[in-house]
Amino acid sequence: MPNKIIAAVIPAPGAAVELREVDEPELEPNSAMLAVELSEVCGTDVHLQQGRLAGVPYPLVPGHVSVGRLAKIRGKLFDVDGREFEEGDRVTFLDVHRTCNSCWQCLVAKSTTRCPARKVYGITYGFGDTLAGGWAEQIYLKPDTRCIRLDKVETERFMAGGCALPTALHAVERAGISIGATVLVLGSGPVGLSCVILSLMRGALKVLCTGAPDARLEAARAVGAHATLNVEKHTTEERRAWVLSHTGGRGADVCIEATGAPGAVVEAMRYARDAGTVVVVGQYTDHGEVAFNPHADLNRKHLDVRGCWGSDFSHFYRGAQLMADPARSEPWSRLRLERYGLAQANDALAAVASGHAVKALIDPAISR
Ligand SMILES: [Zn+2]
Ligand SMILES: [Zn+2]
Repeated sequence: MPNKIIAAVIPAPGAAVELREVDEPELEPNSAMLAVELSEVCGTDVHLQQGRLAGVPYPLVPGHVSVGRLAKIRGKLFDVDGREFEEGDRVTFLDVHRTCNSCWQCLVAKSTTRCPARKVYGITYGFGDTLAGGWAEQIYLKPDTRCIRLDKVETERFMAGGCALPTALHAVERAGISIGATVLVLGSGPVGLSCVILSLMRGALKVLCTGAPDARLEAARAVGAHATLNVEKHTTEERRAWVLSHTGGRGADVCIEATGAPGAVVEAMRYARDAGTVVVVGQYTDHGEVAFNPHADLNRKHLDVRGCWGSDFSHFYRGAQLMADPARSEPWSRLRLERYGLAQANDALAAVASGHAVKALIDPAISR
């Protein structure tokens, strides 16, 4: 008799999460089962539940970034240094699977995050593919899944960064922040908070953060933001005046949009200084269109506006190394984590959707 595994499943777009019991899958050569210690609940999961992301094969088990122990290995699994994994090792794994490294996007454009072959655990792998999401007692790690050893990293510390960490690392890299720069982060969710920390690490002298609600702005100040503004209590004109008052009347050198609201992209362009840089990382799901003035908002400002899609192994790997350094990763320990059991997944989604949870995690060990 195969082992039974409990998983939390989104049955269809807009439907509530429900628990299902499934048989442990049969392992292919060089694959493994991961016993989940913590998985995360992020904005993308809220959007998945609402049906806002194209190409998602419902039903699905959400949870793209997770930490656990290798419970069972069939064949051999190696890390990037060539060290073999053993059963019992604590690891995380890159949620992006099957980047082909042989297509035009991978080899000519060198933009592997746009590889058409890539699949993402908990997002574009459905329940029909296999047990491929972290909101479960165990995850099936298919052959060629890239695991990263976390023996020197606390599970909680790593998950305080979670999927936001590689995303923010990619965004901050795209932003090309100069030493002494002033950075405005629009958005105070997990990606915005990690962008605050990483912008400072990258050499920004001053980091401003706009967002909501107040609890998240408090978190932004706790991790190093110099000033914050609640977007629910101020008009766009007031926000612009606030940014100018903190930037010598010029606007921020770099604006990083991490909100999910299309209007924030135009705001980011308007709050950047002339010849500044704007990075758009918060539009992972489709929230519609927005108008802007190409003359006043873009061309005359001589702006550099960059999109930032997903993250690759380098961001994930460097994020994990960063979390292994207790001093460098200390700011993430200031974020309040809230744990939910598998049976409380709907509560976790609601807490993330309302912005009241700074960081919500799924802990399968919490009893039903
Ligand atoms: Zn490819
Ligand atoms: Zn995520």
